Amino acid sequence: MNKAPTQNMIAYRWALTAMGYPVPISQARRGERYSCPLCHGPMIPRLGDQLQHHFAHEEDTGCTTEAVTRAAVRRWITIQLRDAIASRQVAKARWTCSKCGQQHSADLLEGVAVIHEGYYWDPTHYADVGLVDRAGNVCGVIVVQDELLPTPETLHFFLNQDTFTIVIPASVEPAGSDFATLVAQGQIAGAPCPNLQKQANIIRDPEAIRQALRDVVARWPAYFYGPLETVEGLANVLRIGNHALWLPPDQWREVIGGTRNPLAPGVQVTMQEWKHDDGGAIWLYYVTVRDTCAVGVRRFGPGQAQMQMPTIDHRFRQHKTTALDVVKSLVMQ
Ligand SMILES: [Zn+2]
Ligand SMILES: [Zn+2]
Repeated sequence: MNKAPTQNMIAYRWALTAMGYPVPISQARRGERYSCPLCHGPMIPRLGDQLQHHFAHEEDTGCTTEAVTRAAVRRWITIQLRDAIASRQVAKARWTCSKCGQQHSADLLEGVAVIHEGYYWDPTHYADVGLVDRAGNVCGVIVVQDELLPTPETLHFFLNQDTFTIVIPASVEPAGSDFATLVAQGQIAGAPCPNLQKQANIIRDPEAIRQALRDVVARWPAYFYGPLETVEGLANVLRIGNHALWLPPDQWREVIGGTRNPLAPGVQVTMQEWKHDDGGAIWLYYVTVRDTCAVGVRRFGPGQAQMQMPTIDHRFRQHKTTALDVVKSLVMQ
C-alpha cells in the first residue's frame, strides 16, 4: 500500500532565514535554518537533483503554498520599502491616468513615512502592504496577486480610491533592492489624478451624482441636457448650474448604468430608466458621437410615456452632428 501523501510533501517556493528575512528557493543554501512565514515551523530546502528545488515543512502543517508565498512576498516587499524610506529613495513613475486619460508622473514614495505589513483599509478591504504618511493618510497600497487574490471586488475598491494601487505578481523574483525595480515587476493599476484633486468642487460621489440628476428635472421644464466638457484639464465634466459632475463613461456605467445602444457608426446611446412609485419615471441618456459626449435627463409624470428606443434620423448621420445634438433631440422627443 502506498502511504497517503502528507502535508510536508508540499513544495513551497519561499521561506524565512533564521534572521526572519524571506528568501526564494533559488537563493536557499544547504545546511541553513529556515522557517515558515505563516506557522513559523522549521522548513528544509530540498536542493536535490531529482525534483524541482523547493522548501518543505519538517512536520505536517495546514499551510498552503499560496498563503506561504504571499506571506513571504509581503514581508519581502515591506522590508524593501522600509529600506527605501530609510535611505530616502525616490521612485519616479509615469502612468497613463485611467481617470482623465492624460500622462502623469510622481514620486511614489513622496510623503510616505510608515510601511504597514498587512493593511486593512476597512474591515473588508485588505492590502498586503500599506504606505502611509505621517498624518495617517494612505499614500498607496500594494497587493500581491495570485490566482485567488485579490478578489476583483477588492481590486475595484482600491482602484476607486485616490491612492496608488500597485499590483505585484506572487511569482515575483527578488532583484535589487530599490522600489523602482520592485514596481517594474508589477504594475501601477490605480493612481490619484492630480487634475481631479485640483478641483475640490467637482461632484464624484455616486449618490450625490444621482441626486443632482434627479434634482435637475424636479422642476419645470422637467428636462435637461448638456455637453461633457474639459474643465482645467479634466475631461468629462457636466455642468449643471453651479455644480460640476464628473462623468467619464466608466463612472456613468457604475453610477447610472443602463443599456448601451450603438445606433450608427460612431454614435452610441446608453439609456437608463428610474421608475417612480407613482408610475412616473426619469430617463437618462449618455450619448457619444465620435469624440463628443453629452448627457440628457427627462422626467415623465405617471402614465406619460413608455421607454422606447430613440430613433436616429438621417440628420444625425451627418459629420458635423455632435452628441449634444443627439441628446437634445432625445430629451425633447
Ligand atoms: Zn507553515
Ligand atoms: Zn488624471
